[in-house]
Amino acid sequence: MSDALFEAALVAARDLHATHPDLNGFAAWPDDISFTPREAHLVPAVALLSDDALEPLPHTAPMQRAVQALAPQLEWRHTYTVEEVGQDFLNRYGWFELIGPTGHFQSSQLRLCISYWGAGLYYPWHAHGPEEMYFVLSGGAEFETEDGGKRWLGPGDTQMHLRHQPHAMTTHDSPILTYVLWRGEGLAEPPRMRAA
Ligand code: ZN
Repeated sequence: MSDALFEAALVAARDLHATHPDLNGFAAWPDDISFTPREAHLVPAVALLSDDALEPLPHTAPMQRAVQALAPQLEWRHTYTVEEVGQDFLNRYGWFELIGPTGHFQSSQLRLCISYWGAGLYYPWHAHGPEEMYFVLSGGAEFETEDGGKRWLGPGDTQMHLRHQPHAMTTHDSPILTYVLWRGEGLAEPPRMRAA
């Protein structure tokens, strides 16, 4: 292990997984995790992670604090292009893979990403092969699926997306910080926007 902050984030992630039945029921905690050094890559949204609007619950606060502490050392990513989502979206959005095929902790069994969106953003319809479990650490957003309609998720709430099930998300007055698990085939594949 190279760094106590990475270790603390992994412990916080594992503890949260162990406490919530939607998370540990979705997938077992991986037993093939190995720390892999990755270059830090910052995005503008990193500066927004200390926003007071991100008010966690007692059981989501340790994970959020670990992410805030580790933020300057993380490999933050933008899956999408400015043509797909616009510059404002890219300025106030970012995610990193804590665990997974290309994560700070490598695993082929499960993918755990932490994703942030600022207030007032629309994340258009997209889909992916692996099944997905969203867990909200703080803030909130309106999640949307074709079958399930619109549903507001706040801190501690979860939502599952099935294989190739299109979904969209809109933040309103508050940003959102999420803990997202993927399971199944194609863990390293990016999501794809749905053709208009
Ligand atoms: Zn998704």
